Amino acid sequence: MQYDFFAPQRIVFGWGRRVEVGELARDLGQRAFLISGSRTLEANGELAAVINACHQAGVDCQHVATITHEPIVADVDSAVAELQQLEATANDVLIAVGGGSAIDLAKACSAMLTNSDGDSVQDYLEGVGRGLKVAAAPLPLLAIPTTAGTGTEATKNAVISNFDPPFKKSLRSNLMVPKIVLVDPELGASMPPSTTAYTGMDAITQLIESYISARAKPIPQALCAHGLELAIPAIAAAVEEGTQREARERMAHAALLSGMAVANSGLGFAHGVAPALGVHLNVPHGLACAVMLPTALRVNRDVRLAEIAQLGRLFA
Ligand SMILES: [Zn+2]
Repeated sequence: MQYDFFAPQRIVFGWGRRVEVGELARDLGQRAFLISGSRTLEANGELAAVINACHQAGVDCQHVATITHEPIVADVDSAVAELQQLEATANDVLIAVGGGSAIDLAKACSAMLTNSDGDSVQDYLEGVGRGLKVAAAPLPLLAIPTTAGTGTEATKNAVISNFDPPFKKSLRSNLMVPKIVLVDPELGASMPPSTTAYTGMDAITQLIESYISARAKPIPQALCAHGLELAIPAIAAAVEEGTQREARERMAHAALLSGMAVANSGLGFAHGVAPALGVHLNVPHGLACAVMLPTALRVNRDVRLAEIAQLGRLFA
């Protein structure tokens, strides 16, 4: 047996633990730059609380970008330009608070600030770029997910889209795994039911696809099995009763485990098709995964029968 295993350097998990953000940021950099997702975070005071906690820990913190859609090339290029103007360096830390979109934008910015051979992030994207690679260590990133789905807080890629020409591709490097992940499941309590359902099904699809992947490995498979044990009984309660603590904790933990699994074993058929549904038909990523999952399992049944049967027992 031979394998490598990548994971964030430190995982801080727990209900209410977002109050520790200041000290965590201080461990990573002298100044902090904040990238955020949904405007609800601004409206309900969560962003101000992050900035305050940083200041109290002696870390200057500036809010540089808000993103409410899956990031496109222009979003990355303009946020990078702003961070360059603010003279962000490897001595500073980026903090991402939000769903997959905010964390992916921050991951891409942190890599582009230290890898500047291209004119645009597009030059570095798989399949559509100029083949440039992320070779220098990105700025340290503190990722604080507010949805429980993509697991991008623990992966080594950022998904970047474009509409003309249409594509959805990854910026990928082993160096891009966030340094610290702070998962506070309480942040998910205000997520609307549809977002909870889509992101939850994204996590479940990732756990299944990573488990049955041809590149499956022992540590990620153990994480997947545990993640599915947590998520399957909890997703309905999380959707129907969003403030229920146990359901939110289970979904947040399952999403984190799915990210670590994906970073090490990859994905499958459903995730192969989901980006096309997203970029051509504007289907949210998690919904696209949920729609494709039954077909993906049927297509893979003969070649991964043993693995699918093992998972079947978890659902029994
Ligand atoms: Zn996914």
